[in-house]
This record gives sequence, C-alpha cells and structure tokens, in this order.
Amino acid sequence: MADNNNKALTKKQLETLKNKLLEEKQGMVFSDKESANELSLALPDGGDDVEQSITDYNNSHQLRFRNREVFYAKKIDKALKKFEVNEYGLCNDCGCWIKFERLMARPTAEQCIVCKEEAERDESNSFIGRQSKSLGKVVDLTGMMA
Ligand SMILES: [Zn+2]
Repeated sequence: MADNNNKALTKKQLETLKNKLLEEKQGMVFSDKESANELSLALPDGGDDVEQSITDYNNSHQLRFRNREVFYAKKIDKALKKFEVNEYGLCNDCGCWIKFERLMARPTAEQCIVCKEEAERDESNSFIGRQSKSLGKVVDLTGMMA
C-alpha cells in the first residue's frame, strides 16, 4: 500500500489540525445556540393546522440538523482526545499515518484514504466487489479518488 510509508505529522501540522478542530467545534456551538433560539421562536402561539404542520416540519428539520451536529461534535471530541494520547492522525484500521492534506479536508478522519476507500467499497459496492472478485479482477479506484 502506497499510503503506508506516510510520514508522521509534524508538531506544526498537529497544531494546525488541532486549532482547526477547536474552531469547528466553536462554530458549531454557536450555530447550535442559533438553532435553539429559532426553535423557541418557532413555537406557535395559536394559528391553524397548516401553520402548525409547517412549524412541525421546520422543527423536525432543524432537529435533524442538530442531531447531525451533535454527531459531528462527538467526532471532534474523539479526535481531540487522540491528541492527548498522541494518536491523532493514525489510521484506525492499519495504524499508518493519515496524510496531512486529508486531515485538513476532514480533520475528524479516522482512516487513511486506502482503508476508507476499502470500507466504502465494502459498504456501497459489495455486490460489484464480490462479482468482480469472482471474475478474478480487482477493481482499483485508488487512482481515481486520490
Ligand atoms: Zn489505513
């Protein structure tokens, strides 16, 4: 695997990524407060059924959005924890270093691009993957995704 000889992140790179994570988390807390305000403002004080259902729709839409934010916030916390034990930037699957460029694009990444593509291939293309294996061919998407 080409990715396995990635160099460890430098101190400066780690610092950049940690700041990025902290910034994203801060931005999220802010938008979480915002949507909480919108939620309370959207609470109906009367109004007909149509308005009510629109309000319900908006609220559930916002809640879904918030759930996603909460999920992402947890990922950020998890990533920040890894700094404490000096494991940030290591691939969960193969233990190699995740490329700095990939982490800059996705600071919560827990897999290197090779393992990530493998996992995605297993998830979404398991049928195609199995089929091409049975034909004795290996589909290599690495070049396309890099
Ligand atoms: Zn990996």
